[in-house]
Amino acid sequence: MSKKYQLSKIKSSHYYTFLEISELLGVHVRTVQGWHKDGLNVLDENRRPFLVEGKSLIEYLKRKRAARRTPLQPDESYCVKCKAARKGSAGTQEIITTGKTLGENAKQVIIRAKCEKCGCSIWKYTSDRKIKMLENCNPKYKEEDKSLNENSSSKLRVYQNKKKQ
Ligand SMILES: [Zn+2]
Repeated sequence: MSKKYQLSKIKSSHYYTFLEISELLGVHVRTVQGWHKDGLNVLDENRRPFLVEGKSLIEYLKRKRAARRTPLQPDESYCVKCKAARKGSAGTQEIITTGKTLGENAKQVIIRAKCEKCGCSIWKYTSDRKIKMLENCNPKYKEEDKSLNENSSSKLRVYQNKKKQ
């Protein structure tokens, strides 16, 4: 089941279309589209064909590989430095909307926090729906999130403006 992609084939400073990626790695172009939905960054969400920087592709596949080996709880992210699943330390979580939708009722968001062990930045893609589910079963998480939500809207704007440039 676990497929090993030859990351050495990917040039980090090269830009690839989904079709080129599928040919390069020997996967179906639908698989690449799935990666995009799953968080693979493209250069410009509004321009077709989508272009993916080699660097982003490598990073995405490495994370995917690591994440597969490390099952994450809903409130955990993979820490690249610790090479393990880690919770964010209290009060450092930020929720950033990416502007992408996942199906009909969910929006893609990034949860970012500082690793509780090493302080490194950890993050993962998820959906606002999953976060709501998390809030319902874990009231403590909800409280932490609330305080963040108040200032996360300004952070969201910064993020969006950054994207537009
Ligand atoms: Zn860490």
